[in-house]
Amino acid sequence: MKIAVLSRNPRLYSTRRLVEAGQQRGHEMVVIDTLRAYMNIASHKPQIHYRGKPLEGFDAVIPRIGASVTFYGCAVLRQFEMQGVFPLNESVAISRSRDKLRALQLLSRKGIGLPVTGFAHSPDDIPDLIQMVGGAPLVIKVLEGTQGMGVVLAETQKAAESVIEAFLGLKQDIMVQEYIKEAGGADIRCFVVGDKVIAAMKRQAKPGEFRSNLHRGGTASLIKITPEERSTAVRAARVMGLNVAGVDILRSNHGPLVMEVNSSPGLEGIETTTGKDVAGMIVQYLEKNGGPNMTRTRGKG
Ligand code: ADP
Repeated sequence: MKIAVLSRNPRLYSTRRLVEAGQQRGHEMVVIDTLRAYMNIASHKPQIHYRGKPLEGFDAVIPRIGASVTFYGCAVLRQFEMQGVFPLNESVAISRSRDKLRALQLLSRKGIGLPVTGFAHSPDDIPDLIQMVGGAPLVIKVLEGTQGMGVVLAETQKAAESVIEAFLGLKQDIMVQEYIKEAGGADIRCFVVGDKVIAAMKRQAKPGEFRSNLHRGGTASLIKITPEERSTAVRAARVMGLNVAGVDILRSNHGPLVMEVNSSPGLEGIETTTGKDVAGMIVQYLEKNGGPNMTRTRGKG
């Protein structure tokens, strides 16, 4: 197959591994800098150009679209879809998962366990919002945040009020979430490919920290997940319409709670921790399911 990898940087671990895994399996792998692809939308034959030439003849495309380039990245991916190129994850599914509130609303509609979560726009509604999600301690999250940035634990009602007020004052959209204390500063990353969790790891926050992000000094280790966690992760990915996803789960007293469904999950942590060839499994998925005109939405989303 001829496979495009949409990525801003060919030197990133995940990009390198996908290219390597594809080549090992006999595919032609082409890394395309997402922001350097440009398009002719008006033409009857949807085209994508790159460094002066049209991109043609691709069977599949692997989007590795960072949060900061979601808008443009999804447009480029949609153009591939309009050409009938099979995307590992479809543009509609990526946009869906990037909108954190929309994602939680969709997951809740399908009955997937979530931490009690609230959001509001007006500072006048803060006291009632805090009440609604069960009072302090609370986790407050800036919607645009990544890697644990803008995720704050407010231990008291007063602290929660001032943090929320501060964020709203800065015109930041936020959500307010019940604090899952019993998770003990750990979460579980389930790596879903197709309808299976193919690898999982536990991330543990460093002492004195509740955020388990590896970027914040968290450590990863192998974990055996329960059948309930497994099915929750697979269902969450399916609800979002993602073929490949990193589903982050908190272990609560009332079962697994989904925190986030990530559409471009990193490969480094999961491959190093589990020793599994996750990149190879992703390419295998494309071999099995990809091919011309196999896109479900064909850019219609
Ligand atoms: P980001 O997407 O920026 O990584 P997350 O929502 O994943 O932000 O939060 C970062 C970390 O904070 C999580 O990995 C988890 O360890 C911890 N965390 C987030 N929400 C909660 C919560 N409601 N209860 C307990 N811990 C949480």
